[in-house]
Amino acid sequence: MVARATGMKGDSRVGIGMTSARTRERLVQRLREQGISNPLVLEQIRNVPRHLFVDEALATRAYEDTALPIGYGQTISQPYVVARMTEALLENATPGKVLEIGTGCGYQTAVLAPLVRFIYSVERINALLDRARARFKELRISNVHLRHGDGFQGWPMYAPYDAILMAAAPLTVPRALIDQLAPGGRLVAPVGPEGRQQLVRITKRGDELHTENLGAVSFVPLVQGLS
Ligand code: SAH
Repeated sequence: MVARATGMKGDSRVGIGMTSARTRERLVQRLREQGISNPLVLEQIRNVPRHLFVDEALATRAYEDTALPIGYGQTISQPYVVARMTEALLENATPGKVLEIGTGCGYQTAVLAPLVRFIYSVERINALLDRARARFKELRISNVHLRHGDGFQGWPMYAPYDAILMAAAPLTVPRALIDQLAPGGRLVAPVGPEGRQQLVRITKRGDELHTENLGAVSFVPLVQGLS
């Protein structure tokens, strides 16, 4: 698939059918039926224009509850999974500083951004990062800091983080990320090999890690090195 290198000014997709309130409301209703209950999260799913995060050819499918390709072998996460992870991250706490691994097209980041103070987001594919940066500017999202880097290392400069969200699956959670989690902080991540991943939430309590299993998921793998 050819990557869209341009911004969204004058975008013909704005104002056509798939951006309609009804289409988005259907998606919100579906997520509610699947158990998403945090009203702030549902409000964000309703508000964030997902069609602006995918290739024009796929925009008509933007409000289906499905992952879609965003180029470079990567995908925009399924809305249900974005909502579930966001809800798990926010449950009983409002994190101030969040580290995100795998910015991708920036959709998950955009959903989370108004619900926390700052997001520090790391992406290994520079071209995706550039496009995400342009979208955040367009959508006036200003509390997100982006870095072209390898998520295995986290982003030590701004650590510790109240919460860490991973959008790509490691086989085991990298030690560097656990180290960058604040006391009482939580990490939400898909963990495991392709086809056998589980979404986990790890909470740091003193020297102990409390792990909860949130169910089976399917994510792209966390890969080492930059591109
Ligand atoms: N959050 C995105 C989905 C991202 S897909 C959304 O809302 O749609 C996962 C992303 O993780 C991809 O863009 C991939 O390039 C990135 N990724 C994979 N391994 C990584 C690593 N080691 N460090 C940083 N990003 C990584």
